[in-house]
Amino acid sequence: MFCRLLGHKYEVSRSVTYYVKEYKCRKCNKQLTTNSKGHLVELTPKYKEINSILSKIHNKKKAKLRREELLIAYKMTS
Ligand SMILES: [Zn+2]
Repeated sequence: MFCRLLGHKYEVSRSVTYYVKEYKCRKCNKQLTTNSKGHLVELTPKYKEINSILSKIHNKKKAKLRREELLIAYKMTS
């Protein structure tokens, strides 16, 4: 109810990818996320689903990158 007067106090609750993050209001727990256009929208169940898929893809990419880095490091030292 304070947010109506003072505005929300959002903080990042989860980093999905480098560009997509989830935000949560410290006072009323209202949640927002970044959509594909980079705009802030309400975190609906639909967006939660999209974000969990994005997060899986993102983590896979990171893991692949790490493997490639290790391979390069290995080649350089051998
Ligand atoms: Zn709020």
